[in-house]
Amino acid sequence: MNSFAELPLTKEMLKNLAALEYNTMTPIQEESIPLILEGGDIFAQAKTGSGKTAAFGIGLLHSLNVERFRVQSLVICPTRELAEQVSDELRRIARFQHNIKILKITGGMPQYKQEHSLKHQAHIVVGTPGRLARLLKRGSLDLEEVKTIVLDEADRMLDMGFIDQINEIFSYAPDDRQTLCFSATFPEEIKDLGRKILNNPIEITVESHHSAGVIEQHFYKLSHDDKCAGVITLLKEHNPASALIFCNTKEGCRKVSNELFRAGVPCLALHGDLEQKDRNEVLVRFANGSSRVLVATDVAARGIDIDELGAVINYDMPFETETYVHRIGRTARAGKEGMAFSLMKPSEGFRLEGINEFTHNSFKSEKLEIEGGSSNSDLYLDLESAMVTLSINGGRKNKVSPGDILGALTVPDGIPGSDVGKIDRQDFITFVAVKREAADKALSLLSKGNIKGRQFKAMLHDR
Ligand code: ADP
Ligand code: MG
Repeated sequence: MNSFAELPLTKEMLKNLAALEYNTMTPIQEESIPLILEGGDIFAQAKTGSGKTAAFGIGLLHSLNVERFRVQSLVICPTRELAEQVSDELRRIARFQHNIKILKITGGMPQYKQEHSLKHQAHIVVGTPGRLARLLKRGSLDLEEVKTIVLDEADRMLDMGFIDQINEIFSYAPDDRQTLCFSATFPEEIKDLGRKILNNPIEITVESHHSAGVIEQHFYKLSHDDKCAGVITLLKEHNPASALIFCNTKEGCRKVSNELFRAGVPCLALHGDLEQKDRNEVLVRFANGSSRVLVATDVAARGIDIDELGAVINYDMPFETETYVHRIGRTARAGKEGMAFSLMKPSEGFRLEGINEFTHNSFKSEKLEIEGGSSNSDLYLDLESAMVTLSINGGRKNKVSPGDILGALTVPDGIPGSDVGKIDRQDFITFVAVKREAADKALSLLSKGNIKGRQFKAMLHDR
């Protein structure tokens, strides 16, 4: 089902969607609109440009009672620009009916005007967290009759430090509301928030779709004992910028990462037995390019969102064909080419048949010539990451900003800005990636220099 006409929507709504040339639903719309219309909470992972606004917009507008001139839906967006885009899109979708009032409440505009508009009521309010929280506290915005609250781009809102405002906004919301949370990534912070504000949510993940041929796929039959050597051979041969290796269990994950490490492959492991803090660190280091190889379970890998993943290696074949599609869909993002290698036990030919059937392909299993000759130390150098990760014991809650850290590193006689990579700020710690050659200098700049007049402890993370 992917035509809007198959949804239980009014004729007028369908006519307007057709006028907008929205003929078929995007994947996130197809998955979420039926659930939204049923009134349940959802927790959806979807990228920018996937059509989220119409997904929740159709839901909000469908259940709107136009006669009742009260705020019935609230959409929270991270920035003014996004709030603007969302309200524009909602207005387009709302055109099927007269008199639907959509009000934008963001910072950077006179508050008294917004309060004046609110006195005259609206059906839907779209806003940014700071201003919404403020008007709620002042009593000029009232959520008593709100049926649905949408958090759009929740991960960005948390990155921008809006968690307190969001909690505050929800403290004014009725308990029997519907809550829809959209996020491009699902780091633990978002899951925590979800646990608090969502009620029995249905989780939806929409992978970006790939045209065939973008991901190069190979299947090799190998005995179990040869698999690590197989992984090393593939890494050496293809030298991917980064590789995600999947194991089916956390025990497997630990074993494989240790074995690879002993064989000279610098790598990290990510699985459910790690403490939250360690899991965060692993995710940060893999995403910022300080580790090129990560061994993970399917569940743990959900938090990974990087555009530059060069290869996916299935150390274990997944039990489900859908899992295979999910796994390999993590490579070849953002128009880049990707590689997917699967190591099958001799008895697992049937899994390849299942994949071929499901994906309409005709891949055959190949033989992998395992490389024996080269020494492990060569490999180590080959796979060394370009970046390393440093951290300081100060983060969002200590009012340390990425700009402060960049400033401390790029002082006169410091390191060039081009040597600084991703800066990940968490509550009480900030990670910063720097080029390997600049590591020592960066460490001393961060530990000796002061950041905003304060002294922090800096450390280098290296396994
Ligand atoms: P997101 O919020 O996921 O980043 P948007 O909701 O802004 O994405 O939608 C991206 C673009 O796709 C917008 O220009 C929107 O008008 C358009 N769009 C959304 N749904 C459809 C559809 N079903 N068919 C065609 N275009 C659509
Ligand atoms: Mg959007």
